Amino acid sequence: MKLTVIGTGYVGLVSGACLADVGNDVLCLDVDPAKIRILEEGGIPIHEPGLLDIVRRNVEAGRLAFTTDAERAALHGEIQFIAVGTPPDEDGSADLQYVLAAARAIGRHMDGYRVVVDKSTVPVGTGDKVRAAIAAELAARGVELPFSVVSNPEFLKEGAAVDDFMRPDRIVVGADDERAIELMRRLYAPFQRKHERLVVMDVRSAELTKYAANAMLATRISFMNELANLAETLGADIELVRQGIGSDPRIGWHFLYAGCGYGGSCFPKDVRALIRSASEHGRELKVLAAVEAANDTQKHVLVDKIVRRFGEDLSGRRFALWGLAFKPDTDDMREAPSRVLIEELLRRGARVTAYDPVAMREAERIFGDDARISYAGRPRSALEGADALVIITEWKEFRSPDFEAIRSRLRQPAIFDGRNMYEPARVRFEGIEYFGIGRG
Ligand code: NAD
Repeated sequence: MKLTVIGTGYVGLVSGACLADVGNDVLCLDVDPAKIRILEEGGIPIHEPGLLDIVRRNVEAGRLAFTTDAERAALHGEIQFIAVGTPPDEDGSADLQYVLAAARAIGRHMDGYRVVVDKSTVPVGTGDKVRAAIAAELAARGVELPFSVVSNPEFLKEGAAVDDFMRPDRIVVGADDERAIELMRRLYAPFQRKHERLVVMDVRSAELTKYAANAMLATRISFMNELANLAETLGADIELVRQGIGSDPRIGWHFLYAGCGYGGSCFPKDVRALIRSASEHGRELKVLAAVEAANDTQKHVLVDKIVRRFGEDLSGRRFALWGLAFKPDTDDMREAPSRVLIEELLRRGARVTAYDPVAMREAERIFGDDARISYAGRPRSALEGADALVIITEWKEFRSPDFEAIRSRLRQPAIFDGRNMYEPARVRFEGIEYFGIGRG
């Protein structure tokens, strides 16, 4: 099938590459010429395990190409995926300007039937706006062409995106006409070989499904974080509590880890956008408002512990930071807890030396050439002469560190473990003070 993917970010590039990999002819469009240049030169603009190989393989096979030419893109695919960003507006609502610009570009140039598939995370009712935007462009051109609008929210996880796309738990398709549903069935058939994974519904329900999924996951995290803080006060250990409840199949093991708050490009913005969209329709989402407030508090939990240990004034102190990305296996630092921590440490006069396997370039872009922040080429070199170690991202390479090396390099051997990576007793046995989350 001939497909166009609009937006070559985490969702667009992964979708485009994986759809090409099963034999489709895919053209990816982006308005950012720098991204398209990197792709045309054989690279990829993001860090995502396994993605570079798939992109290269399909470019070489002639099934995957990139462009900044909106007309060429609209003429190419019978199916047009919109996978552009939907960042938060000032009031928390999802900013739809990129989605609607993409829709208008399709309407401006299309020359036959198109299925316009929205993969971006968008509020309920956006399908109608996309339909109206395309219809307005067609009317301005004085032409009548048939098209369908489909909602196909994406559930991939950064860091495991290729695998998630290739082996989805489910594929949600929101559509109101049979022709579009049939095309979507054909498109996704190669990704559901073992059993049917397509859940077909109306457009509005599909749009809400994406927010419901992210809001549920964020709720589990904030719930566990609040309980962790309580466990600490009561002298209980949240890790044992987690083990005690996860085995209940009604609860399950996933997303039960306490930590220093959720970040990333999805949970914070999607929770906010859902709250906002509910209030625009006269509904108050009390649970989600609390989920968000609890997360804002949680992003300060590490700095609160550091202040309790070292005092409010941190001038003259330096902290080693392991991890900058909002989670392992990605270079994404959007709304990452590390950003709050770094800002709070600097505000109190401290300096930081950070190490992250892939996100240091992104951190340099965010923090500029602030002399109070330095970067280390290896985890161990970040420790040299620092007062304490703070762990913010649970990268695999931090799982089994050389505690002796940590103790001998830190001025006041202490670990502030924002992801509960270590057993408190084990770390203390090594002569290192340990501060975890909820490990009373
Ligand atoms: P991103 O910021 O990485 O990429 C968006 C891309 O769209 C950018 O490269 C931008 O230049 C491009 N773009 C913007 N306007 C354009 C236009 N008019 N024409 C062509 N290109 C345009 O975003 P992302 O992380 O891939 O997220 C995209 C959407 O998918 C968002 O709505 C997000 O909420 C949703 N989503 C993201 C994830 C994730 O893990 N990142 C997972 C599921 C859903």
